[in-house]
Amino acid sequence: MGNDNANKKKKICILGSTGSIGVQALQVIEEHADMLEAYVLTANSQADLLIEQARRFQPAAVVIADESKYAYVSEALANEPVQVYAGAEALCQVVQMEPVDMVLTALVGFAGLRPTLSAVEAGKPIALANKETLVVAGELVTEKCLEKGVPMFPVDSEHSAIFQCLVGEVSPVEKLILTASGGPFRSFTMEQMKDVTPAMALKHPNWEMGAKITIDSASMMNKGFEVIEARWLFDVTPDQIQVVVHPQSVVHSAVQFQDGAVKAQLGCPDMRVPIQLAFTYPYRVYSDFPRMDWWQMGDLTFEAPDMKRFRCLQLAYDVMRTGGTAPCVLNAANEVVNLAFRRGQCGFLQMADVIEETLQRMPLTVSPTLEDYLQCDAESRRMAASILGIS
Ligand code: NDP
Ligand code: MG
Repeated sequence: MGNDNANKKKKICILGSTGSIGVQALQVIEEHADMLEAYVLTANSQADLLIEQARRFQPAAVVIADESKYAYVSEALANEPVQVYAGAEALCQVVQMEPVDMVLTALVGFAGLRPTLSAVEAGKPIALANKETLVVAGELVTEKCLEKGVPMFPVDSEHSAIFQCLVGEVSPVEKLILTASGGPFRSFTMEQMKDVTPAMALKHPNWEMGAKITIDSASMMNKGFEVIEARWLFDVTPDQIQVVVHPQSVVHSAVQFQDGAVKAQLGCPDMRVPIQLAFTYPYRVYSDFPRMDWWQMGDLTFEAPDMKRFRCLQLAYDVMRTGGTAPCVLNAANEVVNLAFRRGQCGFLQMADVIEETLQRMPLTVSPTLEDYLQCDAESRRMAASILGIS
């Protein structure tokens, strides 16, 4: 950013500062302390890390979503010039604080929906990491963004890649090509997939991420979510989104235009790059993140996804075509089975079975309101848990 901005730092509210994306976002802010400022930090359960971050970054406010930890956090920060709040409602309020220039949604799951909508309502530009928000309520959220003139800058590496390919283009796209690593079980047979353990699934070949998204990557539900995310971010139809398995994660995604030309964005797998771009766009600022080494890279390969072995990806395409509350049901059931799998209460392939059955049993609401989504989410969770026998 230019010198004219030197005395006006961009004040960022990070929802989920204690997570994988949140911590990397703080690294970016620290690197560029001359132009970026952590104005609000929020956590759910990691009180000690939040306290440490607050001492270091001196934000105006912090929120601990888990209210039982409020006293602990507020006592620890009693001598700091930091306001301490607690609870889910506080998340919806801090995003609206007048000085906030941008909200990074780096919290995980359905919990991101209400604070994101609240930020959009207040006209705050969004750096979107929390893809579940667009999976659940893409239509509602993008309509609200349009109404309020609020931009959404993708943080997800694939969507950031597509966003970068689209800069300067004025013609409609033909196709979006979403690359997928294929996860740790890319070449497993169904038989082998039956027995995979949480420990095996938590080892992603290319990216270090939070536990939930790592499991979603192993089942390829993450790619299904990203297809839905792309549909809303870039206003394309389901048929215009093609998933291509690319195990090396060097090509972050690509766009095909109407003349047959394809633009792709490449780089090392490092989330700080798309996080930083979301913060500084339209500028690119210097950072010493690792550079691509063309001689060490080896072969880049591309293959079709196997929708039979990775049924979650097929289910995501299906609910995207159905629309209404179907994607909300998919997300809610997935949150239940994802956690259950990590706790050893659900098999790896069983996750798709439970999601599919929940989808079959839940009624469809065609044009849902926020209230409908909240209700559908709660009911779908109960349904999925009871199908799994853990309620
Ligand atoms: P993590 O699990 O590492 O972090 C999640 C963050 O959200 C933590 O700060 C956590 O707080 C907070 N949180 C969890 N539940 C709640 C809740 N109910 N209310 C408020 N805050 C909550 O996740 P990631 O950083 O990996 O992912 C965050 C989002 O970004 C996800 O939507 C994911 O899909 C997306 N994303 C992540 C990528 C990555 O590389 N990690 C890549 C692309 C997208 P605490 O830890 O204190 O409990
Ligand atoms: Mg991604």
